[in-house]
Amino acid sequence: MIKIENGRYETKGFTLDINVNVPAGKFCAVLGPSGAGKSTLLSIISGFEVLKQGEVIIDGKLASPSPSARPISMIFQDHNVFAHLDVWNNVALGISPNLKLNDEQKSEVVAALTRVGIAHLAKRHPGEISGGERQRIAIARVLVRNKPILLLDEPFAALDPGLRIDMLNLITELQREKNLTVLMVTHQPDDAKFAAQKVIFISDGEVQNCISTSEFFRSKNFAALKYLGKRT
Ligand code: ADP
Repeated sequence: MIKIENGRYETKGFTLDINVNVPAGKFCAVLGPSGAGKSTLLSIISGFEVLKQGEVIIDGKLASPSPSARPISMIFQDHNVFAHLDVWNNVALGISPNLKLNDEQKSEVVAALTRVGIAHLAKRHPGEISGGERQRIAIARVLVRNKPILLLDEPFAALDPGLRIDMLNLITELQREKNLTVLMVTHQPDDAKFAAQKVIFISDGEVQNCISTSEFFRSKNFAALKYLGKRT
């Protein structure tokens, strides 16, 4: 569970009021107009940005001030891989930053590469594989890190529609298998319809609490209708 009650974030020229309670084990899409604060919300949850008021509560406890101590993995649109390391080592980094792994940990890397379908590319470098395969490296790293919360910031925006669906399918499968709590920023409402059980909508300086995806798409909320391009 991720909870922020009466949270307020302030930076130069931008404020965000936050009241959210994301149940554990749910796939939640984060929607809202460009510049509304979607990435900022993920940064607050992961600990890279700090609230002016209120606290981030994870599983009933105050979240550690240190991002690395939070039980969270992240995937971005890019910057997920290191070009000088091969695929295998890019995944191994998720277990050990110095890449010294024992036999059990090495087996975990192989299992993760196999699970996401890139075991045959283990010795290649990121420059020698496709964009979709590079994102599979990031997903394999999430598997070896084995954290209960996964934050994704427009992870598949650069991929072709077919590949995007493949990736969303893979993430939803893993979410169910591992009972992950997933927050995924997307500018594609269809991705939310396809993959998410819940939606957090952000607009006009306010993060609204998550509601079921079907409820969101039936909503008569003016800002949501405007965002979705529906007539009001
Ligand atoms: P979204 O992800 O919804 O597009 P962001 O969270 O990236 O929105 O941005 C929220 C607000 O914070 C915007 O008004 C943006 O201009 C501002 N902002 C984002 N990054 C920075 C930054 N590095 N410095 C100052 N303002 C920023």
